[in-house]
Amino acid sequence: EPVILGPAEHGIDLKLVSANAIRVTQTLQEAGFKAFVVGGAVRDLLLGVKPKDFDIATDATPEQVKRLFRRAFIIGRRFQIVHVMFGQELLEVTTFRGNGSNNAPKDEHGRVLRDNNFGPQHEDAARRDFTINAMYYDPATGTVLDYHGGISDIRGKVLRIIGQPEARFREDPVRMLRVVRFAAKLHFTIEASTRAPIPVMAPLINNVPAARIFDEMLKLLMSGHALGCLQELRGAGLHHGLLPLLDAVLEQPIGMKFVTLALESTDNRVKAGKGVSPGFLFASLLWHQVLEKWNAYRAAGESPIPALHLAADDVLDAQTENLALQRRIATDMRDIWAMQPRFERRTGKTPFKLLENPRFRAGYDFLLLRCESGELDKELGDWWTAFAEGDSAERERLISVSR
Ligand code: ATP
Ligand code: MG
Repeated sequence: EPVILGPAEHGIDLKLVSANAIRVTQTLQEAGFKAFVVGGAVRDLLLGVKPKDFDIATDATPEQVKRLFRRAFIIGRRFQIVHVMFGQELLEVTTFRGNGSNNAPKDEHGRVLRDNNFGPQHEDAARRDFTINAMYYDPATGTVLDYHGGISDIRGKVLRIIGQPEARFREDPVRMLRVVRFAAKLHFTIEASTRAPIPVMAPLINNVPAARIFDEMLKLLMSGHALGCLQELRGAGLHHGLLPLLDAVLEQPIGMKFVTLALESTDNRVKAGKGVSPGFLFASLLWHQVLEKWNAYRAAGESPIPALHLAADDVLDAQTENLALQRRIATDMRDIWAMQPRFERRTGKTPFKLLENPRFRAGYDFLLLRCESGELDKELGDWWTAFAEGDSAERERLISVSR
Protein backbone atom coordinates (compact mmCIF):
# COMPACT_ATOMS: atom_id res chain seq x y z
CA GLU A 1 0.00 0.00 0.00
CA PRO A 2 2.18 2.81 -1.28
CA VAL A 3 1.54 6.49 -0.78
CA ILE A 4 0.51 7.91 -4.15
CA LEU A 5 1.50 11.45 -5.10
CA GLY A 6 0.18 13.49 -8.00
CA PRO A 7 2.18 15.95 -10.13
CA ALA A 8 1.28 18.93 -7.96
CA GLU A 9 2.65 17.14 -4.90
CA HIS A 10 5.90 15.76 -6.27
CA GLY A 11 6.66 18.50 -8.78
CA ILE A 12 8.58 16.35 -11.28
CA ASP A 13 9.51 18.32 -14.40
CA LEU A 14 8.40 16.25 -17.41
CA LYS A 15 11.13 17.87 -19.50
CA LEU A 16 13.70 15.91 -17.47
CA VAL A 17 12.07 12.58 -18.35
CA SER A 18 13.58 10.71 -21.28
CA ALA A 19 11.13 10.42 -24.20
CA ASN A 20 12.25 6.83 -24.64
CA ALA A 21 11.46 5.98 -21.03
CA ILE A 22 7.97 7.33 -21.61
CA ARG A 23 7.74 5.25 -24.78
CA VAL A 24 8.79 2.04 -23.02
CA THR A 25 6.40 2.43 -20.11
CA GLN A 26 3.58 3.32 -22.48
CA THR A 27 4.20 0.32 -24.75
CA LEU A 28 4.25 -2.03 -21.78
CA GLN A 29 1.10 -0.51 -20.34
CA GLU A 30 -0.75 -0.73 -23.66
CA ALA A 31 0.12 -4.44 -23.70
CA GLY A 32 -1.61 -4.78 -20.33
CA PHE A 33 1.40 -4.70 -18.01
CA LYS A 34 2.40 -2.44 -15.16
CA ALA A 35 5.43 -0.29 -15.96
CA PHE A 36 7.24 2.45 -14.07
CA VAL A 37 10.42 4.45 -14.08
CA VAL A 38 12.19 3.27 -10.92
CA GLY A 39 15.13 3.74 -8.61
CA GLY A 40 17.85 6.34 -9.10
CA ALA A 41 16.02 8.07 -11.96
CA VAL A 42 12.97 8.81 -9.80
CA ARG A 43 15.22 10.02 -7.00
CA ASP A 44 17.03 12.37 -9.36
CA LEU A 45 13.78 13.63 -10.91
CA LEU A 46 12.43 14.45 -7.46
CA LEU A 47 15.63 16.36 -6.77
CA GLY A 48 15.20 18.27 -10.02
CA VAL A 49 18.31 16.65 -11.53
CA LYS A 50 18.38 15.15 -15.01
CA PRO A 51 18.90 11.39 -14.56
CA LYS A 52 21.88 9.92 -16.41
CA ASP A 53 19.97 6.76 -17.17
CA PHE A 54 16.48 5.38 -16.80
CA ASP A 55 15.56 2.03 -15.35
CA ILE A 56 12.10 0.61 -15.90
CA ALA A 57 10.36 -1.89 -13.62
CA THR A 58 7.48 -4.03 -14.82
CA ASP A 59 5.42 -7.10 -14.02
CA ALA A 60 6.02 -8.44 -17.53
CA THR A 61 8.54 -11.28 -17.79
CA PRO A 62 11.76 -10.74 -19.77
CA GLU A 63 10.31 -12.76 -22.66
CA GLN A 64 7.15 -10.67 -22.68
CA VAL A 65 9.21 -7.46 -22.63
CA LYS A 66 11.47 -8.58 -25.45
CA ARG A 67 8.53 -9.32 -27.75
CA LEU A 68 7.29 -5.73 -27.50
CA PHE A 69 10.43 -3.98 -28.78
CA ARG A 70 12.40 -4.20 -31.96
CA ARG A 71 15.85 -3.79 -30.43
CA ALA A 72 15.59 -5.64 -27.13
CA PHE A 73 18.09 -8.10 -25.71
CA ILE A 74 17.79 -10.38 -22.73
CA ILE A 75 20.93 -10.02 -20.62
CA GLY A 76 22.20 -12.16 -17.78
CA ARG A 77 21.70 -15.78 -16.99
CA ARG A 78 20.72 -15.95 -13.35
CA PHE A 79 18.55 -12.89 -13.16
CA GLN A 80 17.52 -11.78 -16.56
CA ILE A 81 16.95 -8.17 -17.45
CA VAL A 82 16.12 -6.68 -20.82
CA HIS A 83 18.16 -4.03 -22.58
CA VAL A 84 15.96 -1.93 -24.83
CA MET A 85 17.83 0.30 -27.27
CA PHE A 86 16.65 3.47 -28.96
CA GLY A 87 19.48 4.94 -30.98
CA GLN A 88 22.21 5.69 -28.45
CA GLU A 89 19.98 5.35 -25.44
CA LEU A 90 19.89 2.13 -23.47
CA LEU A 91 17.02 1.43 -21.08
CA GLU A 92 17.16 -1.39 -18.58
CA VAL A 93 13.85 -3.12 -18.07
CA THR A 94 13.65 -5.32 -14.98
CA THR A 95 10.84 -7.59 -13.87
CA PHE A 96 9.67 -6.98 -10.27
CA ARG A 97 11.77 -9.08 -7.93
CA GLY A 98 10.37 -10.82 -4.88
CA ASN A 99 11.85 -10.91 -1.40
CA GLY A 100 13.36 -14.33 -1.80
CA SER A 101 16.33 -13.18 0.29
CA ASN A 102 14.87 -14.97 3.33
CA ASN A 103 15.54 -18.35 1.80
CA ALA A 104 18.03 -17.35 -0.90
CA PRO A 105 21.43 -19.06 -0.79
CA LYS A 106 23.93 -17.22 1.41
CA ASP A 107 27.63 -17.46 2.21
CA GLU A 108 28.80 -18.24 5.75
CA HIS A 109 28.65 -14.54 6.67
CA GLY A 110 25.03 -14.13 5.57
CA ARG A 111 25.73 -12.48 2.24
CA VAL A 112 23.04 -13.31 -0.31
CA LEU A 113 24.59 -15.07 -3.28
CA ARG A 114 21.60 -15.25 -5.59
CA ASP A 115 18.28 -13.53 -5.40
CA ASN A 116 16.40 -14.52 -8.45
CA ASN A 117 12.70 -14.86 -8.09
CA PHE A 118 10.03 -12.60 -9.50
CA GLY A 119 7.47 -11.16 -7.11
CA PRO A 120 4.84 -8.51 -6.50
CA GLN A 121 5.67 -4.80 -6.69
CA HIS A 122 5.67 -4.19 -2.93
CA GLU A 123 8.34 -6.87 -2.53
CA ASP A 124 10.35 -5.31 -5.35
CA ALA A 125 10.24 -2.06 -3.39
CA ALA A 126 11.28 -3.71 -0.12
CA ARG A 127 14.38 -5.38 -1.54
CA ARG A 128 15.80 -2.07 -2.80
CA ASP A 129 18.47 -0.40 -0.69
CA PHE A 130 17.37 3.06 0.47
CA THR A 131 13.95 4.68 0.83
CA ILE A 132 14.82 7.33 -1.75
CA ASN A 133 15.75 4.60 -4.25
CA ALA A 134 12.49 2.69 -3.90
CA MET A 135 9.97 4.92 -5.64
CA TYR A 136 8.11 4.31 -8.89
CA TYR A 137 7.05 6.96 -11.37
CA ASP A 138 4.33 6.46 -13.97
CA PRO A 139 4.74 9.08 -16.71
CA ALA A 140 1.26 8.33 -18.10
CA THR A 141 -0.64 9.31 -14.97
CA GLY A 142 2.14 11.51 -13.60
CA THR A 143 1.98 9.71 -10.24
CA VAL A 144 4.77 8.63 -7.91
CA LEU A 145 4.32 5.49 -5.78
CA ASP A 146 6.23 5.73 -2.52
CA TYR A 147 6.41 2.51 -0.47
CA HIS A 148 8.90 3.43 2.24
CA GLY A 149 8.68 7.13 2.96
CA GLY A 150 11.13 8.11 0.24
CA ILE A 151 9.47 11.45 -0.45
CA SER A 152 9.86 12.66 3.09
CA ASP A 153 13.49 11.48 3.12
CA ILE A 154 14.12 13.35 -0.14
CA ARG A 155 12.75 16.48 1.51
CA GLY A 156 14.71 15.89 4.70
CA LYS A 157 17.84 14.98 2.71
CA VAL A 158 18.19 11.71 4.59
CA LEU A 159 19.63 8.37 3.52
CA ARG A 160 17.72 5.64 5.30
CA ILE A 161 18.08 1.95 4.58
CA ILE A 162 14.87 -0.02 4.12
CA GLY A 163 14.27 -2.61 6.85
CA GLN A 164 16.67 -3.66 9.57
CA PRO A 165 20.06 -2.05 8.88
CA GLU A 166 22.31 -4.89 10.17
CA ALA A 167 20.35 -7.47 8.18
CA ARG A 168 20.43 -5.43 4.99
CA PHE A 169 24.17 -4.73 5.23
CA ARG A 170 24.82 -8.38 5.99
CA GLU A 171 22.84 -9.48 2.91
CA ASP A 172 24.92 -7.15 0.76
CA PRO A 173 27.87 -5.28 2.32
CA VAL A 174 28.27 -3.18 -0.84
CA ARG A 175 25.31 -1.16 0.45
CA MET A 176 27.72 0.38 2.97
CA LEU A 177 29.74 1.80 0.10
CA ARG A 178 26.62 2.90 -1.72
CA VAL A 179 25.31 4.88 1.23
CA VAL A 180 28.62 6.70 1.49
CA ARG A 181 28.65 7.49 -2.22
CA PHE A 182 25.09 8.83 -2.16
CA ALA A 183 25.76 10.89 0.96
CA ALA A 184 28.70 12.63 -0.71
CA LYS A 185 27.04 12.99 -4.09
CA LEU A 186 23.63 14.20 -2.95
CA HIS A 187 24.81 16.07 0.16
CA PHE A 188 22.41 13.99 2.27
CA THR A 189 22.98 12.85 5.84
CA ILE A 190 23.00 9.20 6.78
CA GLU A 191 20.22 8.54 9.26
CA ALA A 192 21.57 7.47 12.67
CA SER A 193 20.37 3.87 12.80
CA THR A 194 21.51 3.31 9.22
CA ARG A 195 24.95 4.67 10.07
CA ALA A 196 25.41 3.06 13.47
CA PRO A 197 26.27 -0.53 12.44
CA ILE A 198 28.65 0.43 9.62
CA PRO A 199 31.95 0.69 11.55
CA VAL A 200 31.25 -2.70 13.14
CA MET A 201 30.13 -4.38 9.95
CA ALA A 202 32.81 -2.85 7.73
CA PRO A 203 34.97 -6.03 7.68
CA LEU A 204 32.17 -7.86 5.85
CA ILE A 205 33.27 -5.95 2.76
CA ASN A 206 36.21 -8.35 2.60
CA ASN A 207 33.93 -11.23 1.64
CA VAL A 208 32.52 -9.49 -1.41
CA PRO A 209 34.11 -10.51 -4.72
CA ALA A 210 36.93 -8.10 -5.57
CA ALA A 211 35.53 -7.26 -8.98
CA ARG A 212 32.30 -5.97 -7.46
CA ILE A 213 34.15 -3.83 -4.91
CA PHE A 214 36.33 -2.52 -7.66
CA ASP A 215 33.29 -1.50 -9.73
CA GLU A 216 31.76 0.24 -6.74
CA MET A 217 35.01 2.03 -5.89
CA LEU A 218 35.27 3.17 -9.48
CA LYS A 219 31.75 4.62 -9.29
CA LEU A 220 32.69 6.29 -6.06
CA LEU A 221 35.88 7.81 -7.40
CA MET A 222 34.21 8.92 -10.64
CA SER A 223 31.08 10.31 -9.00
CA GLY A 224 32.30 13.90 -9.25
CA HIS A 225 32.56 13.82 -5.45
CA ALA A 226 35.55 11.59 -4.91
CA LEU A 227 37.06 13.77 -2.21
CA GLY A 228 33.78 13.98 -0.35
CA CYS A 229 33.29 10.22 -0.69
CA LEU A 230 36.70 9.50 0.79
CA GLN A 231 35.97 11.80 3.69
CA GLU A 232 32.64 10.00 4.22
CA LEU A 233 34.41 6.64 4.08
CA ARG A 234 36.69 7.72 6.89
CA GLY A 235 33.82 9.24 8.82
CA ALA A 236 31.85 6.00 8.56
CA GLY A 237 34.82 3.92 9.69
CA LEU A 238 35.02 2.21 6.30
CA HIS A 239 38.53 3.13 5.35
CA HIS A 240 40.35 -0.01 6.44
CA GLY A 241 40.77 -3.10 4.33
CA LEU A 242 38.59 -1.76 1.56
CA LEU A 243 40.97 -2.16 -1.27
CA PRO A 244 44.70 -2.51 -1.05
CA LEU A 245 44.73 0.48 -3.34
CA LEU A 246 42.53 2.66 -1.23
CA ASP A 247 44.23 1.60 1.95
CA ALA A 248 47.39 3.05 0.56
CA VAL A 249 45.60 6.28 -0.23
CA LEU A 250 43.44 6.57 2.84
CA GLU A 251 46.17 5.83 5.30
CA GLN A 252 47.73 9.07 4.15
CA PRO A 253 46.38 12.22 5.68
CA ILE A 254 43.51 13.31 3.46
CA GLY A 255 45.33 16.54 2.77
CA MET A 256 48.08 14.75 0.92
CA LYS A 257 48.80 17.19 -1.81
CA PHE A 258 49.16 15.07 -4.93
CA VAL A 259 46.22 12.75 -4.32
CA THR A 260 44.02 15.63 -3.27
CA LEU A 261 44.90 17.56 -6.40
CA ALA A 262 44.29 14.51 -8.56
CA LEU A 263 40.89 13.88 -7.01
CA GLU A 264 39.96 17.55 -7.25
CA SER A 265 40.86 17.66 -10.89
CA THR A 266 38.90 14.44 -11.47
CA ASP A 267 35.88 15.88 -9.67
CA ASN A 268 36.10 19.07 -11.71
CA ARG A 269 36.30 17.16 -14.96
CA VAL A 270 33.28 15.05 -14.05
CA LYS A 271 31.30 18.12 -13.06
CA ALA A 272 32.22 19.84 -16.33
CA GLY A 273 30.94 16.80 -18.24
CA LYS A 274 34.42 15.85 -19.45
CA GLY A 275 35.63 12.29 -19.57
CA VAL A 276 37.79 10.79 -16.86
CA SER A 277 39.92 7.76 -17.45
CA PRO A 278 40.20 5.20 -14.67
CA GLY A 279 43.82 4.69 -15.73
CA PHE A 280 44.69 8.32 -15.06
CA LEU A 281 42.87 8.26 -11.75
CA PHE A 282 44.58 5.14 -10.46
CA ALA A 283 47.93 6.26 -11.84
CA SER A 284 47.54 9.34 -9.64
CA LEU A 285 46.38 7.46 -6.57
CA LEU A 286 49.39 5.17 -6.66
CA TRP A 287 51.99 7.66 -7.84
CA HIS A 288 53.53 8.26 -4.43
CA GLN A 289 54.20 4.52 -4.13
CA VAL A 290 55.81 4.45 -7.54
CA LEU A 291 57.92 7.50 -6.68
CA GLU A 292 59.22 5.91 -3.51
CA LYS A 293 60.27 2.72 -5.26
CA TRP A 294 61.62 4.61 -8.25
CA ASN A 295 63.89 6.60 -5.97
CA ALA A 296 64.97 3.45 -4.18
CA TYR A 297 65.93 1.67 -7.41
CA ARG A 298 67.84 4.73 -8.58
CA ALA A 299 69.63 5.01 -5.29
CA ALA A 300 70.64 1.38 -5.78
CA GLY A 301 72.33 2.33 -9.04
CA GLU A 302 69.65 1.60 -11.63
CA SER A 303 69.33 4.19 -14.39
CA PRO A 304 66.12 6.25 -14.40
CA ILE A 305 63.98 4.59 -17.05
CA PRO A 306 64.58 0.94 -16.12
CA ALA A 307 64.19 1.98 -12.47
CA LEU A 308 60.77 3.44 -13.22
CA HIS A 309 59.65 0.26 -14.97
CA LEU A 310 60.77 -1.84 -12.03
CA ALA A 311 58.89 0.44 -9.66
CA ALA A 312 55.74 0.29 -11.82
CA ASP A 313 55.94 -3.52 -11.91
CA ASP A 314 56.18 -3.72 -8.13
CA VAL A 315 53.24 -1.43 -7.53
CA LEU A 316 51.01 -2.97 -10.19
CA ASP A 317 51.81 -6.52 -9.11
CA ALA A 318 50.81 -5.76 -5.56
CA GLN A 319 47.50 -4.32 -6.75
CA THR A 320 46.54 -6.85 -9.40
CA GLU A 321 47.15 -9.71 -7.01
CA ASN A 322 44.45 -8.57 -4.66
CA LEU A 323 42.00 -6.82 -6.81
CA ALA A 324 42.26 -7.89 -10.39
CA LEU A 325 42.83 -4.35 -11.54
CA GLN A 326 41.67 -4.74 -15.09
CA ARG A 327 44.50 -5.22 -17.50
CA ARG A 328 43.38 -2.32 -19.67
CA ILE A 329 43.53 0.06 -16.72
CA ALA A 330 46.92 -1.26 -15.59
CA THR A 331 48.28 -0.73 -19.11
CA ASP A 332 47.08 2.88 -19.14
CA MET A 333 48.68 3.48 -15.76
CA ARG A 334 51.99 2.08 -16.88
CA ASP A 335 51.94 4.23 -20.04
CA ILE A 336 51.29 7.39 -18.05
CA TRP A 337 54.08 6.63 -15.58
CA ALA A 338 56.53 5.53 -18.25
CA MET A 339 56.18 8.84 -20.07
CA GLN A 340 57.20 10.91 -17.06
CA PRO A 341 61.01 10.74 -17.30
CA ARG A 342 60.78 11.58 -20.98
CA PHE A 343 59.24 14.94 -20.17
CA GLU A 344 62.52 15.86 -18.54
CA ARG A 345 64.47 15.42 -21.78
CA ARG A 346 63.95 18.58 -23.71
CA THR A 347 66.58 18.12 -26.39
CA GLY A 348 66.78 16.83 -29.95
CA LYS A 349 63.85 14.87 -31.31
CA THR A 350 62.62 13.55 -27.97
CA PRO A 351 59.97 16.23 -27.34
CA PHE A 352 58.57 15.84 -30.87
CA LYS A 353 58.29 12.08 -30.45
CA LEU A 354 56.58 12.47 -27.12
CA LEU A 355 54.10 14.92 -28.61
CA GLU A 356 53.13 12.33 -31.22
CA ASN A 357 52.52 9.68 -28.60
CA PRO A 358 48.79 8.87 -28.63
CA ARG A 359 48.81 9.03 -24.84
CA PHE A 360 50.60 12.40 -24.73
CA ARG A 361 47.61 14.25 -23.33
CA ALA A 362 47.25 11.94 -20.33
CA GLY A 363 50.98 11.99 -19.65
CA TYR A 364 51.09 15.78 -19.92
CA ASP A 365 48.09 16.26 -17.61
CA PHE A 366 49.86 14.00 -15.15
CA LEU A 367 53.04 16.07 -15.45
CA LEU A 368 51.05 19.21 -14.66
CA LEU A 369 49.70 17.59 -11.50
CA ARG A 370 53.25 16.78 -10.45
CA CYS A 371 54.26 20.40 -10.99
CA GLU A 372 51.22 21.72 -9.20
CA SER A 373 51.86 19.50 -6.19
CA GLY A 374 55.36 20.92 -5.91
CA GLU A 375 57.09 17.68 -6.85
CA LEU A 376 58.53 19.27 -9.98
CA ASP A 377 59.49 22.79 -10.91
CA LYS A 378 56.55 24.65 -12.41
CA GLU A 379 58.85 25.80 -15.22
CA LEU A 380 58.84 22.29 -16.73
CA GLY A 381 55.05 22.21 -17.01
CA ASP A 382 54.99 25.70 -18.53
CA TRP A 383 57.63 24.69 -21.04
CA TRP A 384 55.54 21.73 -22.17
CA THR A 385 52.39 23.82 -22.37
CA ALA A 386 54.21 26.27 -24.64
CA PHE A 387 55.69 23.41 -26.67
CA ALA A 388 52.35 21.64 -27.13
CA GLU A 389 50.58 24.85 -28.13
CA GLY A 390 53.38 26.40 -30.19
CA ASP A 391 53.93 26.28 -33.96
CA SER A 392 57.03 24.60 -35.36
CA ALA A 393 59.21 27.74 -35.16
CA GLU A 394 58.22 28.24 -31.55
CA ARG A 395 58.97 24.61 -30.80
CA GLU A 396 62.47 24.85 -32.27
CA ARG A 397 63.06 27.99 -30.24
CA LEU A 398 61.91 26.28 -27.04
CA ILE A 399 64.27 23.39 -27.65
CA SER A 400 67.19 25.75 -28.27
CA VAL A 401 66.58 27.70 -25.06
CA SER A 402 66.18 24.56 -22.97
CA ARG A 403 69.75 23.47 -23.65
P1 ATP B 1 23.29 5.96 -9.77
O1 ATP B 1 22.91 7.38 -9.93
O2 ATP B 1 24.61 5.78 -9.16
O3 ATP B 1 23.08 5.10 -10.99
P2 ATP B 1 21.16 4.32 -8.78
O4 ATP B 1 20.30 4.44 -7.55
O5 ATP B 1 20.47 4.38 -10.07
O6 ATP B 1 22.28 5.42 -8.65
P3 ATP B 1 22.08 1.73 -9.58
O7 ATP B 1 23.28 0.98 -9.15
O8 ATP B 1 21.94 2.15 -10.99
O9 ATP B 1 21.99 3.00 -8.62
O10 ATP B 1 20.82 0.85 -9.14
C1 ATP B 1 19.50 1.10 -9.55
C2 ATP B 1 18.53 0.78 -8.42
O11 ATP B 1 18.63 -0.60 -8.06
C3 ATP B 1 18.78 1.55 -7.14
O12 ATP B 1 18.15 2.81 -7.16
C4 ATP B 1 18.17 0.62 -6.10
O13 ATP B 1 16.78 0.75 -6.05
C5 ATP B 1 18.50 -0.75 -6.64
N1 ATP B 1 19.80 -1.27 -6.12
C6 ATP B 1 21.01 -1.13 -6.69
N2 ATP B 1 21.97 -1.73 -5.96
C7 ATP B 1 21.34 -2.28 -4.90
C8 ATP B 1 21.79 -3.03 -3.78
N3 ATP B 1 23.08 -3.34 -3.61
N4 ATP B 1 20.84 -3.44 -2.88
C9 ATP B 1 19.55 -3.14 -3.06
N5 ATP B 1 19.08 -2.43 -4.08
C10 ATP B 1 19.95 -1.99 -5.00
MG1 MG C 1 21.38 4.00 -12.04
